[in-house]
Amino acid sequence: AASHDVSIEDLAERIKAGDRSTLARAITLVESKKPEHQAKARALVQHLLPVTGKALRVGITGVPGVGKSTTIDQLGANLSAKGHRIAVLAVDPSSSRSGGSILGDKTRMARLAVDPHAFIRPSPASGTLGGVAAKTRETMLLCEAAGYDVILVETVGVGQSETTVAGMVDFFLVLMLPGAGDELQGIKKGVLEIADLIAVNKADGDNATRARRAASEYRSALNIMAPKSPNWTPPVVLVSGLANIGLDEMWALVETHRLKLGATGEFAERRRAQQVAWMWSMLEERVMQALRADPKVRGRLHDLEGGVRDGAVSASIAVDEIARLFGI
Ligand code: GDP
Repeated sequence: AASHDVSIEDLAERIKAGDRSTLARAITLVESKKPEHQAKARALVQHLLPVTGKALRVGITGVPGVGKSTTIDQLGANLSAKGHRIAVLAVDPSSSRSGGSILGDKTRMARLAVDPHAFIRPSPASGTLGGVAAKTRETMLLCEAAGYDVILVETVGVGQSETTVAGMVDFFLVLMLPGAGDELQGIKKGVLEIADLIAVNKADGDNATRARRAASEYRSALNIMAPKSPNWTPPVVLVSGLANIGLDEMWALVETHRLKLGATGEFAERRRAQQVAWMWSMLEERVMQALRADPKVRGRLHDLEGGVRDGAVSASIAVDEIARLFGI
């Protein structure tokens, strides 16, 4: 039966009972573009809100090829063996451009894909980063309601998506390649600022020496940066997702972070601030959607944008006209 045939209460009960197919259907509602589905998804999330928030939310980023899927698969398997339930989500606003999601693909996480204690969901189809992120946040809440106690949110280390993901998780983990040169470090400076931990991956075999050198470079780079939290200095560790080296120690640090920031109240405060930021970002998204869909605005938007592009209309004049057409 289609999800719209089932009441919110029934959906909520089945999700709380851990029914995976209902969870998957509810996420489809969250991701739907149909206003009635979106309204139902919102009501469902609101209904489930009291049973959310219990998971440890961890963001994971790194350039393509750094070993995100390999590491998540192994880390997830380790956590599953310890009795955790793991949900793997992805934020990849470019996913449909590359012809299907490049993240969260089940074939890239062979162990977790067949693990009854794991749930993998690819990125919502492409849209604005804000739109994709909003859906992933709601999906995260649904997964928490379904009893997943570890949420891993994967994102490719390009563009703004890292900052967005860092803004929806408790801990932000950055995977780096061994032997990263100065050039790469320059590019990654922004990401160092939001990292709670840096893991140099592929620290195995012939890579071990280069990985150690890279780790010490990242440590020096972090040393000259203002810490994100007064209660936490981001550690730099060596791991191998492939050989399962260092992943338990890395996870122990994630748990230490939770304890430390939990004790000072920073953990809860960070979540409260994220919730408010989320409200504003959803509101912005909604207002922009309404603006773009407004018939009067839509009729002029293309011409005005063209005028601004050619330099015939100043940006502020264009904004004035759009705002007037929209009635603000
Ligand atoms: P992603 O694009 O970040 O998800 O990277 P993948 O997990 O797909 O890994 C890219 C390539 O690096 C694959 O060929 C992996 O087998 C390899 N790889 C991933 N982790 C490690 C590791 O820890 N050590 C080594 N030597 N290779 C790895």
